[in-house]
Amino acid sequence: MAIGDQRCLAIVGESASVTEPATSPLGIFGGTFDPIHYGHLRTAFEMLQSLRFGEVSFMPCGDPPHRGATFADAELRLAMVRAATDGQLGFTVDDRELLREGPSYSVDSLSALRREFPARSIALMIGMDAFLGLPKWHKWREILQLAHIVVAHRPGWRAPDLGPLGDMLADCGTHRIDDLHGNRSGHIFVHDVTQLEISSTEIRELVAAGRDPRFLMPDAVCRIIEDSGCYPAVSSSAEPV
Ligand code: ATP
Repeated sequence: MAIGDQRCLAIVGESASVTEPATSPLGIFGGTFDPIHYGHLRTAFEMLQSLRFGEVSFMPCGDPPHRGATFADAELRLAMVRAATDGQLGFTVDDRELLREGPSYSVDSLSALRREFPARSIALMIGMDAFLGLPKWHKWREILQLAHIVVAHRPGWRAPDLGPLGDMLADCGTHRIDDLHGNRSGHIFVHDVTQLEISSTEIRELVAAGRDPRFLMPDAVCRIIEDSGCYPAVSSSAEPV
């Protein structure tokens, strides 16, 4: 389902009705998703519900600029994200970073979305670990001109109170959900989500050790991992792609 598609907002019933106007915030959840897991999905779902977003769009990163090559290739990571989100009301998938050449800079994706949705509130959703690395992102200060930033608390990570991010939080931080709805960009909202201490790294290591990753991610994702053999045991060729 494409971003902004009204159908994703409709409840299918005897008389289908739209529960949220298309102008409610669009959440963008970027990541390498190598693989996607319940930590991502639960975070996205809680934000969708409690922040009253119209939709959350999962945006797999093509060429991640801040880390080495991925293990599963782009096509497989996209397939896993599609399988994990399929059928969930309010979840969509955006493959623009996989189609674009060169490094996947969030600022470029947000600029493109801003052109598509000039008036809509857009919120970039990231974990606290990713937020702490924000000053290393390409043109990071421009992000708040294009979108809000919603930060999910992750186990073991604390919000900064010093430095450029501490200053930014002091200037742009808000505790009001209405600020995310009433403005199209410019606020930072730190949101407590259920702490699921799951990481893709841990899952890859588990699979490479020959163990079953069941219950850390949807079964459909486990099947893709098993069928493709994308996280081979360390003894075979576990080279990043
Ligand atoms: P890796 O272990 O390979 O670094 P990851 O599990 O952190 O991967 P990413 O795809 O890098 O997953 O993360 C995408 C986004 O999801 C980031 O903003 C990250 O902070 C957030 N995230 C990842 N895992 C969780 C989790 N368990 N709970 C909440 N947010 C998470």
